[in-house]
Amino acid sequence: VDISEDELLAAIRRVLSVSDPAIIVAVGDDAAVVRPGGGDLVLTTDAVVEGVHVDRATATAREIGYKAVAVTVSDAAAVAASPRFALSSLTLSPEVDAAWTMELFGGMREACDEFAMSLVGGNVSSGPVLSVTVMVTGEVAAGRAISRAGAEAGDLVTLTGSLGGSAAGLRLAREVVHGREVTDEVRDAIRRHQRPTPRVGEAQVLARHGATAMIDVSDGLVIDLTRLCEASDVGVRLDLGRIPAHPASAEGEALGGGEDYELIATMPSDAAASDAAAELREVFGVPLSVIGRITDSGRESVDEAGASRPLERLGWDHFG
Ligand SMILES: [Mg+2]
Repeated sequence: VDISEDELLAAIRRVLSVSDPAIIVAVGDDAAVVRPGGGDLVLTTDAVVEGVHVDRATATAREIGYKAVAVTVSDAAAVAASPRFALSSLTLSPEVDAAWTMELFGGMREACDEFAMSLVGGNVSSGPVLSVTVMVTGEVAAGRAISRAGAEAGDLVTLTGSLGGSAAGLRLAREVVHGREVTDEVRDAIRRHQRPTPRVGEAQVLARHGATAMIDVSDGLVIDLTRLCEASDVGVRLDLGRIPAHPASAEGEALGGGEDYELIATMPSDAAASDAAAELREVFGVPLSVIGRITDSGRESVDEAGASRPLERLGWDHFG
C-alpha cells in the first residue's frame, strides 16, 4: 500500500465511523467492545480470496468489499439470526493501493448499512494474494435458531428466489469484458455474482412459519441439500422440474453453480409453506418454490418425465 499504515487506519476509521449505542469501544482501538443484546449469540466467518471467489479484472473494490460482508451475513441468516457486528481481516497484495483499499471498506460499509450492522474492527496486513475475511456476530431469540439438523420425513423442501444466476454472472462478466452485449438478464446475473443478497429477513419469515431446518446455498443446490439431509439424518426426493433457474443460467448452473446465497428451508406442512410463500412475495417480492420432499432415507432426484436418479449421481454428472 502506498501510504503509511497509520494513515490507512485513520482513513478506514473515518469510513467506518457509526453511532451505535451498543458500541462501547469503536473501531481503531486494540479491540472493539460491544454490549450484546438478549437471546443467543450467533458467530460465523467467511472469506473471499482473489482468484478463488473474486477477480479484480471483473469486480470493483466496492463490489468485493460488499460481497465479503454479504456472504458472511448469509451464513448468519441461514440460522435465522439478525446480523449485528462484523470484524474484517484483510491481506492486501502489492497490486492494490490505498484508494482501492478505501473503496473496499466503502463496499463493506455499504453492506453493513444495508443489513443494519456495524463493522467494529479488524486487521490489515500485506501478503502475496488479496483476501478479505469477515466475521459476523448476530442475535436470535433464545432457542430459536434454525440449524441444518431439524428436517423430518414428510417436510416440504422449499427454496427462495432462483438458482444459477451467480454462476451465469461469473461466466457472463468475463464475456462482457470480451464484448458481449449487456441485456437486463445479463446485468441481473452479474449483479447476483458480484452483489449477492443474503436472505436475512426472508429467513426470519421462514422461521416464524415453522421452518424445521435451513441452509444457505453457497456451494450449489445438490451439495448444500445433501449437507442438510446428512445433518438431519433424512433422505430427500428432489423434483428437478420445479427448480427455479435464473433466466441467464446455462445447463447445470442452477444445480451445481453455487454462490446464489438463496435459502433451502424445510417446512412442516403445505399450509406452512404456502403461508410463508405469500408473506415472502408480499414483503420482499421473493418467490418461494417447493422443490421436493424430505423422506426417511435415500437421496434421489426425479425429472419431468418421472425418471429418478440418485442425487449424488446428479451432482457428479454436473461437476465431473
Ligand atoms: Mg452456509
